[in-house]
Amino acid sequence: MSFGLDDHPAPHAHRIMHISKGTVAAISYKVSTAEGEHVDASQPGEPLTFLCGIGQIVIGLEEALIGKQPGDAVAVDVTPERAYGVSDPGLNLSVPSSAFPEDVRERLRPGMQFQAEHPTKEGETVVFTIHAIQDGDVLVSGNHPLADKTLHFEVTIESVRAATKEELEHGHAHGPGGHHHH
Ligand code: ZN
Repeated sequence: MSFGLDDHPAPHAHRIMHISKGTVAAISYKVSTAEGEHVDASQPGEPLTFLCGIGQIVIGLEEALIGKQPGDAVAVDVTPERAYGVSDPGLNLSVPSSAFPEDVRERLRPGMQFQAEHPTKEGETVVFTIHAIQDGDVLVSGNHPLADKTLHFEVTIESVRAATKEELEHGHAHGPGGHHHH
């Protein structure tokens, strides 16, 4: 075996990176429901930066981005199962307002959120949103507002780089300058 000739850096050290587990990608995106209702979008010049492989973004979108490189555009429909899940009818509840502490009872309004124990799964907490108040009953749902929705993503990949050791330890991407934002 001979060493020596190959001891210098590889000539392809600057090759284009593809999105894979353990990379940090910046993406511009627009997301709507399958019915065309606007859900969210990145602001111009402010792409979303995420660490791939840890569920930081919707799993169905992450899967569609694997193998893509800067400049690629991706349009993908993601089913509820690969996005925010299928709603659980057991999490749509009618709660008598008397179940709430007296001091908050009068302030209950649609849109307010509170945490409570899962009605059937012991030890699990759920964020409930108040949807309506009717005749002393508070109608709440612990389902994600985007549950049951098929989402349409339009994404442009802005950049891809390897995650730093620190990012892998923290389990999230850091900002453009590598600074902490948490
Ligand atoms: Zn961190």
